[in-house]
Amino acid sequence: MRTESSSKRRFRRASLLLLLLALSGCDLLRLFSIDPADGKTEKAAAKKPAPPGKHSFRQPPFTFCYDFDDLKRDHPLFKDLEGLRDQIAKELHVPAGTTPIQVYLFEDQPRFEKFMRATDEKLPTDRRAFFMAPQRPMGGAADLLVYTFWGKNDRIQQDLRHELTHALLHSVLREVPMWLDEGLAENFELPPETRGVNTTHVECFRRAIQDGTFKADLARLEGLTKIKDMNAAEYREAWAWVHLMLHSTPEAKKVLRNYLTQLKTNPYPGALAPRLAEVFPSPAEALKKHLLELDAGEPPALVPPR
Ligand SMILES: [Zn+2]
Repeated sequence: MRTESSSKRRFRRASLLLLLLALSGCDLLRLFSIDPADGKTEKAAAKKPAPPGKHSFRQPPFTFCYDFDDLKRDHPLFKDLEGLRDQIAKELHVPAGTTPIQVYLFEDQPRFEKFMRATDEKLPTDRRAFFMAPQRPMGGAADLLVYTFWGKNDRIQQDLRHELTHALLHSVLREVPMWLDEGLAENFELPPETRGVNTTHVECFRRAIQDGTFKADLARLEGLTKIKDMNAAEYREAWAWVHLMLHSTPEAKKVLRNYLTQLKTNPYPGALAPRLAEVFPSPAEALKKHLLELDAGEPPALVPPR
């Protein structure tokens, strides 16, 4: 396991080298760069508090680091996370990632927020979790880092599954397009028995279909490059397109799997929308039909943090 100090040093070095960070977390700021002239950022990094590191345990490829004493390793949440890597690999036909993923579990929200604010003051302040992948200057595998808080976080299972999905995808793909990254994370954030059905998203779509305001345009979603354009509606639509491809027809699933296979070696394989149009005469109509046919029962019971 990487020690706390070396991890911190490496991360700080990455910040000071002004490298691009890939950042995620149902967050609306996914990519940002640190301005070389931004003295404030360097100052913030210099007085940054240490991430949790008093205790740690490995559950490959994850290492969980935390400071509080009453975390139980046999908590059902960790059991659930055990299967996530294989679930993703099996459903998407991508390799099971082996790149180490550091997961920092802060004791509570104030400690988490203080650390994240010190990491970069430009980070959004209303997030419960972050994923970061600082790129190394000479290339090679990046460190994959996830930050969240344990205490009084009723959605920790969902948050961790979401962020760890980002981390696992980034460990095996050269690049993950913004919309697809979030669409896949939204699909895998719920436990496997839900088959990725997010009942809140489904209800929202069904209301829109009913009142005639339903809109879906994958090409538009793929064209978005700025994270500020990726709002709740775009997250929801990204979830829906991914769900359609994973849970409708074998041909649609093949489109997604082939695209991901390309992303293993080619960071920019072009648009996915035209490929989906080859298997659905009208993708938007297919999506509408899929959303109406889904069995969206009660939301699943999630594991509480303690
Ligand atoms: Zn996300």
